[in-house]
Amino acid sequence: MFRITQYLRDLAQAEATGSYPAVRASRPSGPVVIWNLIRRCNLTCKHCYALSADHEYAGELSTAEVFTVMDDLKAYRVPVLILSGGEPLLRPDLFEIAARAKAMRFYVGLSSNGTLIDAAVADRVAAAHFDYVGISLDGIGAVHDKFRRKVGAFDASLAAVHELQARDVKVGLRYTMTSLNGGELPALLQLMRDVGAHKFYFSHLNYAGRGNIHRSKDAHHQATREALDLLFDTAWADAQAGAEREYVTGNNDADGVYLLHWVQRRYPRWAGALREHLVAWGGNASGVMVANIDNLGQVHPDTMWWHHGLGSVRERPFSQIWDDVSDPLMAGLKARPRPLQGRCAACTERAVCGGNTRVRAQQLTGNPWAADPGCYLDDAEIGLQPQAAEAAA
Ligand code: SF4
Repeated sequence: MFRITQYLRDLAQAEATGSYPAVRASRPSGPVVIWNLIRRCNLTCKHCYALSADHEYAGELSTAEVFTVMDDLKAYRVPVLILSGGEPLLRPDLFEIAARAKAMRFYVGLSSNGTLIDAAVADRVAAAHFDYVGISLDGIGAVHDKFRRKVGAFDASLAAVHELQARDVKVGLRYTMTSLNGGELPALLQLMRDVGAHKFYFSHLNYAGRGNIHRSKDAHHQATREALDLLFDTAWADAQAGAEREYVTGNNDADGVYLLHWVQRRYPRWAGALREHLVAWGGNASGVMVANIDNLGQVHPDTMWWHHGLGSVRERPFSQIWDDVSDPLMAGLKARPRPLQGRCAACTERAVCGGNTRVRAQQLTGNPWAADPGCYLDDAEIGLQPQAAEAAA
């Protein structure tokens, strides 16, 4: 996750005081675990990575098994659990799991489509003291309903946001940009302000299938750049105004490099300091500081790697699976620097980006270390001279 607001608040402070904040100390004690507790969902969204449907899935972890895994996660010093699905509210023991997680002092997030959160459920969510609830929205009104394949889904999710806000639950809007809903971003950012949501999570689509040509002219890449420009401008206005709203992105760590260029153009004297912060962050954290456990107990490097299992928590504790680098993908993800190839290997900003999410390269070419086809930066932005760019292509 790339925290735009964190960096722009630093910039605002530097502009106000003449001094850039020091690089933050250390990384969290362990990986953030995104836990798909259930695959069942009441919706069948077009871009669902879990390919969920509204029926039960056999073999999901029992309450007792979930508790055993939680004990191991705590001992491994995992700080954050994001309870997800499917739709996690369909899991009958969700509030039991959440209560235990809070008692164990995890930071606990809930990732929901929102359609099941009426006043009564909102009461339970508030009583469970989730630290954060993310509600997914793909657009306004009918656009969202079309993505969610359910008329009325937008109204239900928006009602959920209001119910949670009324109970002082920290709510964020989660938006995945595709070629079909890119135009919805301005309206969603306005909605965020209107409803008083705390966070806006902009997720890039982890698509595959684009060639490594015409990068700067690519329509999706251009739309991505425009979306990021809008996010940066919005987050910058909020940072300068001291607003509490936060903007973050996911699934494309080139965003850090793009922000660096944004700052370089506007406030060049702070670009060096920002770069130090970004290198300390290090970019993509799949397989290192982000982990995923699916509904059957399989561990994955992150949620976009469901086609690559690392082992089951039924057979080995998470802590053992996570530290095991006998899997070549995990060995590569944990290596610093990662064994990048092609354009990413030649990129002068790879220490900022970390080589990005490797899953698009793997899906497109079969090689997880090939150039990321989702990188929307042009050659000059990643320090490639024309000859080197030709050789790296
Ligand atoms: S070329 Fe690769 S390493 Fe460089 S910014 Fe793009 S995705 Fe990241």
